[in-house]
Amino acid sequence: MSRPLRVAVVGSGPSGMYAADALVGQEDIPVSVDIIDRLPSPFGLVRYGVAPDHLSIRSVRDTLDRVLDHPAVRFVGNVEVGVDLTLGQLREFYDAIVLTYGASRDRALGIPGENLAGSIAATDFVNWYTGHPDTPTDAFVDFLATSSSVAVIGVGNVAVDVTRVLSKAPGEIEHTDMPEHVFAALRGSRVRDVHLVGRRGPAQATWTTKELRELGELEETGVLVAEGAAVDDTASQAAIAEDKAVARNVKVVEEWAARPEDDRGRHIHLHFRCRPVEILGTDRVEGLVVETTVLDGSGQASGTGQTHVIPVDAVIRSVGYRGTALEGVPFDERRSVIPNREGRVVEGESVVPGLYVAGWIKRGPTGIIGTNKKDAVQTINCLLADYADPTAWSAARPAPEAVDEALAGRTVVPTDGWRRIDAAERALGASRGRDRTTIHQRDGLLAAADAGQ
Ligand code: NAP
Repeated sequence: MSRPLRVAVVGSGPSGMYAADALVGQEDIPVSVDIIDRLPSPFGLVRYGVAPDHLSIRSVRDTLDRVLDHPAVRFVGNVEVGVDLTLGQLREFYDAIVLTYGASRDRALGIPGENLAGSIAATDFVNWYTGHPDTPTDAFVDFLATSSSVAVIGVGNVAVDVTRVLSKAPGEIEHTDMPEHVFAALRGSRVRDVHLVGRRGPAQATWTTKELRELGELEETGVLVAEGAAVDDTASQAAIAEDKAVARNVKVVEEWAARPEDDRGRHIHLHFRCRPVEILGTDRVEGLVVETTVLDGSGQASGTGQTHVIPVDAVIRSVGYRGTALEGVPFDERRSVIPNREGRVVEGESVVPGLYVAGWIKRGPTGIIGTNKKDAVQTINCLLADYADPTAWSAARPAPEAVDEALAGRTVVPTDGWRRIDAAERALGASRGRDRTTIHQRDGLLAAADAGQ
């Protein structure tokens, strides 16, 4: 075999890193892997999604980082496919492309008032508190300073993260790697009540028990079960009987409902069977109108026509992430994923040669970080099977330098540039008595990447 199989992985979140790991972790086919990311730093949602106070989940980045130590793997940061490099160029430079760019947009609720001032997407708020370079430093300073009662719509783990960040005392969060301006804004927060709003019952919530329980363990904030928590319908009873995780979630809610009233000044209120129908307000949010629902035999909600207003002055919409299309790649608009069979991209019934997909853009925004490992391995097994016969690869591929030549003039962050960012963030954290502080501006990241060069 005269040269390694050249693979581009687009996106350096968990699925991209696990895909690269699966490629270099086998010995049948020699490979070289470029992991391309539009951001100067790798790890995607592990850096810009996982809540900063979830230290053990965030430590997954140490495992992902080791993939970059492999001599056949290069990080190519600050390069956006579709902008700095076209898909056509990638096809020219690499034998195979694995798209792992995730699902970074928020899903819309589609109700009146959704775009009022004071109604924000959880994805944006999470980006801000994790220090995403695309989110302005002051994005939610006013939001926190002017909101006292916030509805968080959706009862998944992102809603739980956002609720916890809003409800923690400063001392419970200031050991984390959040940027300094985020701590300052959270210290100035006027939020006292957070209303978590689920359109179905506690047996249908998609949060996980460990994360849910944490809401009941906060220093300054108590949990109140407000409405709709009964699990007396057949679908909920069946779900509890069949699924231990569901039974555990319901038990946590029942325990909270049985607790004596918590008289601390700050509260998380749980509302179930409340379907948001309108966000009230003229200049900004003044309330959330919800319709009481009932569940059918399969656990789906339908409205009863009875509505009431939850008294809030702000709304965070946390109803899931959504993938976006990449020019030249087939896209399933309904599911917001790239259509594929076990990771091979398909157009209609036909496989698109050389194009693969893994992670959220392959299957949708579900599962925990570890889910992406299995998912990436499935894709890479297909890829390796497709290239098992080396005589079938094109002999005319450009040399590895071709991609570097195409990027000449562009500020690319290579692996050692990322290592310098990493060192700078650790040093910044240490100067404040923390393990790390995230550098949140693109200029700052690029300066750190370049430092000493
Ligand atoms: P999710 O688990 O899919 O939750 C979305 C929530 O939004 C559900 O409660 C859903 O209710 C609700 N919803 C959707 N459309 C709605 C509408 N029109 N009106 C009212 N409610 C609506 O998504 P997520 O919370 O964004 O999390 C994404 C993935 O990341 C999940 O797999 C999650 O577990 C994972 N994650 C994990 C962690 C962790 O492990 N610590 C942390 C963060 C995220 P229905 O069920 O009724 O549709």
